[in-house]
Parts: sequence; structure tokens; C-alpha cells
Amino acid sequence: MDLSYQDIKFLPGVGPKKADILAKELDIRSTEDLLHHYPYKYVDRSRFYYIHEVNVDMAFVQIKGQIIRFEKAGEGPNLRLTATFTDGQETIELVWFKGIKWVLEKYKTGIQYVVFGKPTAFNNRFNIVHPEIELVSQLTPAEQMGLQPFYNTTEKMKSSFLNSKTLQKIIFQVIGTIKSGIPETLPAYLLQKFALLNLTESLVNIHFPKNGDLLRKARQRLKFEELFYIQLNILQQTKWRDQHFRGFVFGQIGHYFNTFFNNYLPFELTNAQKRVIREIRVDVASGRQMNRLLQGDVGSGKTLVALMSMLMAVDNGFQACIMAPTEILATQHFASIKELLGDIGLNVALLTGSVTAKKRAPIHEQLRNGELNILIGTHALIEDAVQFKNLGLVVIDEQHRFGVEQRSKLWKKNVNPPHILVMTATPIPRTLAMTLYGDLSVSVIDELPPGRKPIQTYHYYENKRQGLNQFIAKQVSAGRQVYIVYPLIEESEKIDLQSLETGYQYMCEVFPEYQISMVHGKMKPAEKEHHMQKFVGGETQIMVATTVIEVGVNVPNASVMVIESAQRFGLSQLHQLRGRVGRGAEQSYCILLTDYKLGTDTRKRMEIMVRTNDGFEISEADLRLRGPGDLEGTQQSGLPFDLKIANLAQDGKMLEIARNAAMEILTDDMKLEKTENRVMADQLRKLKTNTLNWGSIS
Ligand code: ADP
Ligand code: MG
Repeated sequence: MDLSYQDIKFLPGVGPKKADILAKELDIRSTEDLLHHYPYKYVDRSRFYYIHEVNVDMAFVQIKGQIIRFEKAGEGPNLRLTATFTDGQETIELVWFKGIKWVLEKYKTGIQYVVFGKPTAFNNRFNIVHPEIELVSQLTPAEQMGLQPFYNTTEKMKSSFLNSKTLQKIIFQVIGTIKSGIPETLPAYLLQKFALLNLTESLVNIHFPKNGDLLRKARQRLKFEELFYIQLNILQQTKWRDQHFRGFVFGQIGHYFNTFFNNYLPFELTNAQKRVIREIRVDVASGRQMNRLLQGDVGSGKTLVALMSMLMAVDNGFQACIMAPTEILATQHFASIKELLGDIGLNVALLTGSVTAKKRAPIHEQLRNGELNILIGTHALIEDAVQFKNLGLVVIDEQHRFGVEQRSKLWKKNVNPPHILVMTATPIPRTLAMTLYGDLSVSVIDELPPGRKPIQTYHYYENKRQGLNQFIAKQVSAGRQVYIVYPLIEESEKIDLQSLETGYQYMCEVFPEYQISMVHGKMKPAEKEHHMQKFVGGETQIMVATTVIEVGVNVPNASVMVIESAQRFGLSQLHQLRGRVGRGAEQSYCILLTDYKLGTDTRKRMEIMVRTNDGFEISEADLRLRGPGDLEGTQQSGLPFDLKIANLAQDGKMLEIARNAAMEILTDDMKLEKTENRVMADQLRKLKTNTLNWGSIS
């Protein structure tokens, strides 16, 4: 029996109307979907309370008793219904503001009920607003046993009486009828090896735990399975690719690499840079096609690693390109790479959206005939008109700005896919990288070039603004430049733009003697570029902007980053912004300005920012605070990021175990053809067809 084919509308208690809502709201269509809609919490209902025990600190309370009387009060929208409920000794009020007619029809006085809900204090009495009410005779066994499951529902569902309780009842019935018929989805030898509960037991206990221990085991098993199949999928694809695509072999370290290294390199490489270059060298000489993610904090010197990798390509007769997310960044790369290469004798060109057709023609021509060695640019590189003679290496800078689709287009720029080096300054926690980019090898630059002064970060409230202005004045008169960043999100775009402009006006009034730029994403690209260039060129001292300046821009003279309404930014974003300063020899500062009233999480974010400059520590903290779904880069990944039960912030260990298990199995039986592995091949096929995009990750 395949439960994924069993339409829920035929289940008892569901019917076409509820089925429709479940499909629309929670994407639950089949019995299988329903069984995999896990509770988000459990409440211990093993204990009944007496009314005299009730206090407001209780998250919920459960009382047995009966209703003595109903009373209506108020009019129109203020109409409410109150029931006086007694446990035989004292009374408590039950209150409804909605569904009054239905309540009066359904519940009667003098019948034994169990009421359940959160007690609140009102007029020196306790009451329970919109309680759950059950006939004592109709409690499900799970409730009688203790742990009651709670399910996520939506407003739409609730207004159609499809609340957690209803779901619980439906699922309870389903489990009762098909208990013996849930096909196992992991091979027996894995269950045995890791002492995992079988699927049926796991599903029964995830919904209706017989006890705490079984609940824990059920969660273990379901987490393992979820992580395991993601890894199995990624690793199988990687293996498949390794077998089907030969990588170009950059067999020799030749003239350009050596000449550059010996005569042009303006400084010693850091040990981390050396290590990463060695890792890349091994990859590109191996005959396998490289897919490598290079993580390194802002300013750690990734560009140089990219350049030296490109020289490896050139020395072996290949062309190389580097793609940046913005025109400014591409232009900066072009300038710094030109300078580093000096008169070494390589042909390097810049290709961006604003390069005129007339100037493009020779670039296109030289790319095709092989005269051009290195191309630097923006998305313009992806266009079909851009044809290489022999592209051997693609470097993608600041990866999270590029979607999967764009990556795969670059892949197709040669008969065989070129080696790919993806660089990012937004470090990705290890667990996330393994899930998101399980197919990428990861290199890390965990060391900054010597002589950098760590940025000092401070968290201030509004009342320090005077002092801050004096500080800004001091820095500017010492010849430094200052960023002032405002949040801008779509939902509150108008207000945000207003506060940006107000902030700009304010700075103009406070500092009439300085030149001040303003840049935001709503400006025309050319205008934005113009103002940005003025700041880059040092014509203006202060830049008031939204997060458009977030990625990659290099203004070594900028030493102060002020972030307004810092509470509205995520940790990774704050860290990215901070990375805009501290790129020169001067001491740099980051000032986080916030409201006085801050939630616990926000306070934590500020504390972490003040405490550390370590991008990895910050990304781990971000993952813990926000969960993976919200982290930058995960949306574009195409992966099912809202994991159902596993948690990438907490289940790192389990992920590793699952990954190793998958690896071991595939090494022995890549196509999962052995009898004992069939179940995995089937399950994988099913997951790929059911889950959007799961099978098409590049
Ligand atoms: P990011 O990793 O943020 O892309 P960049 O590649 O832009 O960093 O490097 C930041 C600055 O550090 C550049 O000015 C670069 O020339 C310099 N740099 C890179 N490597 C070294 C090194 N080993 N020693 C000294 N300076 C370096
Ligand atoms: Mg960079």
C-alpha cells in the first residue's frame, strides 16, 4: 500500500472541503503527507488541576468538572459569552468572543467535561478564553496517557474549525486504521546499525508518544532519515558527475604562476592562502572537475587566491573568468588584478553591462580566438554572446548573490564543464554547507593578512548621538570616510526611504562643511554608480546609504560604519556591513545604533557583534537564532529548506553520521541496485518527484 497515493479526502472526518483547505494551507494531500505533519510541541496532560491551584504563570491548565450556567454580556462586536465552570469546589470562568452560537449548541450544563487552556487573571478572578472542551468519555488514549501533540495550523484553517485538535483526531484515526501497513523506508541493516526505531513505531510515537523515551527515539529516527536522504541525493549526484564529466587537467605549474609568485607578488601569502592554493592545485590536477567553495572573512585575501588559480588555468592553455555580483565590484577586481599583474604580459578584460557594444565586439572576438586570457565581469558574462575558446576555470565572487541557475549557465560555457571556484565572505556554518552544497568541497581562509587592526564595535542607544557626531567629525577631519547605513525592506519601503532621507538631511545640517553622498536601491543604476564612485574616489566624506553597499566594495580609507536601527538587521548582514570598514591601515569602528527596547534575541545579536569579529562564530550564532530557512543563500538553493524535523543548528552530529552512512553505501553500490538497497533507490526516486527542485541542484 503506497500511502502517498491515498487522497486524504476519503479519510474519516476529512471530506472534500477540509481536504481542500489542508492542501492549500499545509500542502497536505495524501495520507503520507498527513502522517509526516509532525507535532511542533507536546503538552503533558497527565495531570488534572483543581481550580484553587490555578495561577497566571501556568502556560495551560486542565480541569475536570461541569458548566453551571452560561451568560451573555456586551453588544455587537463586544458581545461575549461566559460560562461558569466548577470542579465541585470552586468556579472559574470560560469566555468566548467568537463562535458563541456554536458553543451554546454544542456544550450543555451538567455534563462532565475536561476544559483545557491558558488561565488569565481578569477582575481578580481567573478565566480561560476560548478553552478546548472535551467530553470526559471521549478523550483519546494519548490524552489519557499524558503527552498531547500540538500541530501547526493557519488562521484559515482555524476559521474552518480545522485546529490542532481536529488534526490530532484525524491523524489518530488514520494511525489506528493503517498501523500495520506503513512501508519501511530505510533498509533493515541501517535500522539495526544505528539502533533506530522502525517507521511505523516512529510515526505512531511522534504523534502519540507512549512515553518520553519512545518520543525521543521516534524523533531520532525521523531526523536521521530526513538528513540521510538529503545526503544520499547530493552524494549520488556528485558521484554521477565525477563519472560522467572529466575535469580539465591543469598538470603543470608554469611560467605565469611562477613569475607572478616570484616577481610580482607584493606581499607574503598568509599560511591560510597558501593552504587553500594547494587545495585548489590538487583539485585541478586530479582529472576531476573542481567544485570548490572558498570561505574567508572580508579582507582575508580571497581575490589573490582567485588570481593565482586563474594563473594555473592560463599556464595550462586555458582561459579563466571571474564573475562579481555588481558592476562596482567587477570594476574593482579588474583594477586590482590589472595592478597585481602589471607588465607580466597577460591579456585581461572587463565586461559589464555598461561596456558599449563597440567595445564589446573586440572582447567577444578575443575570447573566441583565445587571445584573451582572463575576463572579469558581472552577469554580462552569462549572456549567450559570450563564447570562450577554452574556458578552464570560473570564479564566482560573493556567491550568495547568484542563483543556482546562473551557476549552471556558466557550466555550459565549454564542452566539458570548467572548474568552479565559488567565493563567499558570508561564512556558512558547516552543517548548512554540507546540506546546501554537499557537492562542493570547502576551503577556508581563517587568517587575516598581518597588520590588520581588528574593528572595534560598539552598541549605542539614540541618546549617544551627540557624542557620535563628535566622533564622526574627529574621524573625518583626520581624513577618514564614514558610512551611515539605514535598513530598507520592501514591506516598509516608503517609511524606510523617508528615514534615510531624513538621516541624510540631518547629516547635511550637522556637517555643512562636509560632502555627503546618498545611495539607495531605488535610484537608477547610473545615478547610484555615480554617487558610489564619488565616495570611492574620496570626493565625499560621508556616505548615507541602504544595504546596497553591503557586498564587496573596497574603500580602504573608510574607517567608520554606523548602522542605524541595527536591531532590524540579521547577524550575517551586520557582519557583512561591518566588513566594509577595516580594510586599510587605520583603526576602524562599527557603531550599532538601536532603540532602547530590545527583545532577547536582538540583545544577543548586538552582544555577539560587539564581542567577536569572527565570521564563522557569527554565522553559527545566526543559524541558532534564526534557523536555516532565513539565512542568506538558502532560498535560492532550491533545497527543501524547511526541514521537517531535523535542525541544522542542533543536529550537526547526526548530519555527519547520516552523511558518512550515505557515503559508505554509495561507495559500495552507487546506483543502489543491490537487493538490500532497493528500498533507498525507491525512496529517493519518490522524494525527487515529490519535492520541487530536489533533483535538479547543480
Ligand atoms: P576579500 O577576501 O574580502 O575579497 P581581498 O582579496 O579584497 O579580500 O583582499 C583585501 C586586501 O588585502 C587587498 O587590498 C589585498 O591586496 C590585501 N591582501 C591580500 N592578501 C594579502 C597578504 N597575504 N598580505 C597582505 N595583504 C594582503
Ligand atoms: Mg572580495
